Amino acid sequence: MKIRSVKAIYPNYRHIAPSWRTDMWQIVVQITSDTGHTGFGFGGGGRASLPVVNGHFSELIVGKEVNSTEDIAAIWDHLYFESIPYGRKGVAMMALSGVDLALWDLLGKAEGKTVANLISSDTKSNILCYGTGPDPDYHADLGFSGTKTPHRWTGEQSEIDSLIAWADRARAALGPDGQLMIDTYMSWDSDTTASMAKHLSEYEIHWFEDVLTPDDLEGQAELRKLVGNVNVAGGEHEFSHHGFNEIARVGALDIWQPDITWCGGITAGLRIVDIAADHGAPVVPHRGGEVWGLHLIAATDCVDLAEFVTGPANATMDEVWLGAPEPVGGRIDLSESSGFGVEPNEALL
Ligand SMILES: [Mg+2]
Repeated sequence: MKIRSVKAIYPNYRHIAPSWRTDMWQIVVQITSDTGHTGFGFGGGGRASLPVVNGHFSELIVGKEVNSTEDIAAIWDHLYFESIPYGRKGVAMMALSGVDLALWDLLGKAEGKTVANLISSDTKSNILCYGTGPDPDYHADLGFSGTKTPHRWTGEQSEIDSLIAWADRARAALGPDGQLMIDTYMSWDSDTTASMAKHLSEYEIHWFEDVLTPDDLEGQAELRKLVGNVNVAGGEHEFSHHGFNEIARVGALDIWQPDITWCGGITAGLRIVDIAADHGAPVVPHRGGEVWGLHLIAATDCVDLAEFVTGPANATMDEVWLGAPEPVGGRIDLSESSGFGVEPNEALL
């Protein structure tokens, strides 16, 4: 089939995390074919990525053939090359992620297969879930195997006490086998991290996430020696297999967390998983409970663990995608619908 049209849309969000302001959250990409199929993808970069897709990528790929995953990889390489002067990372790669995911969805629908089955006939079912949000009791109620709290260090010593109180509550809620994680969103430096590892040692924290900035790979590699048994996790702000090659070369991280809607889609995700396998690094995709990461987890050697960003209990969130599977008893199954199995919520477009 040939690509007939490519269009990126910024949804009419009502609830966006403050760090993304009002204009920089996820985009919806729609690609149609001359066979009458429509593929949908989710990309990053907000309104800034719309002209990348609608003004540049669209012109480059309308009319191209898409009949195999190799065709999608060739289109990825073409768009990557053509956007090198302004791209490689950030907004352009977040835009490319949305296009790539829409192409995988399109091919899946045309072939009547899930994206996971386009990757492999041997897929995981019943993937384990963990929750991201401040309330470990809520995650325990959902049957999740782990809980991750967001934390931003402002230098107040009382924050150490409040993290210890969180760890106490989380360990009690999830029991001795539950996984406890802390996402620092680049707010801890090396000294803070080493000190936190000491203060929290009895709680056996599974990982500290996103500790230094992605530019300080050597610092993160050093950190791995300072935190005892805690894993140093990260990678949500890194892009494509080129970026993850650097993480591998420096040995910066114990656990890799590419975001499939930002790092370059399934095509880049597969290349990253290959590099991780060569270096023995476990991959736990960022926001892996959303269908875009979930199909990669199901079809590859990614860890059997999907992240759900729940926020606090009963948080109000925009539902951009309809038909996505829900966790049941702390586990989630892929839907059997072709492609990623979701349709955009027209009310938000
Ligand atoms: Mg994070």
